[in-house]
Amino acid sequence: GVPILLHIFFFRTVASPPSSNFLLLGPSGAGKTAFTTLLESKSSTSAKKTQTHTSQTSTLITVSLPPTVPTASNRYRSINDPSLKEASKNPVRYRLKDTPGHGKLRESQGLAELVSMSASKDIKTKIRGVVFMVDTAALTDEATLRDSASYLHDVLLVLQQRALGKGKSSTKRDAEIPVLIAGNKQDLFTALPAGSVRERLEGEIERIRKSKSKGLMDASADGGDAEEEEVLGDDDGKGVFSFKLLEQVGIKVDVVGGAVKGDAEEEVGSGVRRWEEWIGMCL
Ligand code: GDP
Repeated sequence: GVPILLHIFFFRTVASPPSSNFLLLGPSGAGKTAFTTLLESKSSTSAKKTQTHTSQTSTLITVSLPPTVPTASNRYRSINDPSLKEASKNPVRYRLKDTPGHGKLRESQGLAELVSMSASKDIKTKIRGVVFMVDTAALTDEATLRDSASYLHDVLLVLQQRALGKGKSSTKRDAEIPVLIAGNKQDLFTALPAGSVRERLEGEIERIRKSKSKGLMDASADGGDAEEEEVLGDDDGKGVFSFKLLEQVGIKVDVVGGAVKGDAEEEVGSGVRRWEEWIGMCL
């Protein structure tokens, strides 16, 4: 009768195929490979052995969201809800693509992947969100900060160009692609808290943005044909850059701390739980 039908209905909504893709980007050494390996081992059944990943090539893995992590569609579910049992048998799954962060491979792999996945209309390849990982203990180092921020700048510029529908006459707006800045290695005592990570990245992107728009102005003053490249954030470049500025074009950026190391210990501030919650809210 009705209870069975309801049961089937619920079962169906819980057992979703891995139709959402997330792209994992960030400089090398941030912990992307460690994160991918951890997620894979957390969701693999004992029969399936976790593969060994390297930092040189892209890997696509299918991950199960822990049943206690809410998704956008079941966020009000309580811990005592019997459907949680069902959920652990039929977890919500998603795909994560890990990309190499090495400087030379960024253009050809990470950014190229972002461009093609964000243009895709195919449910199998189109992207639901970007996870940009940084090492929060290394951002006090000027060179690491500059390197991380310039990669992030390029990623955000790709998303901005897409959001502004450059070169397209389509009136239909594409779905938004939110960005999670996963501030990894919070287990280290030298790690910067998420708020400082945000400030430093914004400050460094502001510098990059300034020098870029100055370069563009100089080039056009020289009569050279400066490539019409947009500036990140407001294009007159008058304001100071902040991630908030990108919300005007529909790009939401969150900075959330965590640590791949110590995930099992469930200490406050460690683990990957809060990143999984961010992913859950996209599903
Ligand atoms: P990738 O280049 O972004 O893929 O970075 P890897 O996954 O290879 O990690 C770089 C280094 O950081 C490795 O030595 C990892 O063991 C280490 N690492 C990754 N996550 C954490 C973390 O949460 N805390 C600490 N302390 N080290 C980490």
